[in-house]
Amino acid sequence: MYSDILIPTDGSETAKAAVDHAVDHAQRYGARLHALYVVDIDAVNFGLGTEQVDRIRQGKFGEMTELKERAEAATGVVADAAAEHDVEVREEIRAGTPHDVIADYADDEGIDLIVMGSHGRTGVRRALLGSVTERTLRSTHVPVLVVDYLDED
Ligand code: ATP
Ligand code: MN
Repeated sequence: MYSDILIPTDGSETAKAAVDHAVDHAQRYGARLHALYVVDIDAVNFGLGTEQVDRIRQGKFGEMTELKERAEAATGVVADAAAEHDVEVREEIRAGTPHDVIADYADDEGIDLIVMGSHGRTGVRRALLGSVTERTLRSTHVPVLVVDYLDED
């Protein structure tokens, strides 16, 4: 049923809660896991020139080490969990509008299941789904497993 499972992550606690579900599915189905962090071009745009945005799109971070570290920390959490369970994992960093990149990635890479958080870094206490999750649901035909998690303190 599943051979390639995608977990888009922004490094938030909610995305981390989705990791266990993604890894467990991957292990049971012998699937490969894809950990995808999208540098949100619209969100970081105000601080970046078009040249920098182009370079990020090509995966060339240069001196933008903070962005790169944030991305690698997010996918690294998934990679560590996968390694613990002998699950094959690919870490991917892309740039663009998150839900578009996620939906395109799913198409291009033959993803059969997307596992993601209900919320992310900016709206943990909101009752509605986060905008990236909601837009991803509307943008893809691939089934999406949405994992809810509220940090109660
Ligand atoms: P909003 O962004 O609308 O203010 P939010 O941050 O609470 O709300 P989302 O951004 O929709 O919620 O995050 C929900 C899930 O979407 C995350 O748990 C993660 O799985 C995924 N996600 C969000 N942003 C990214 C990103 N930049 N790259 C990859 N995955 C992301
Ligand atoms: Mn968000």
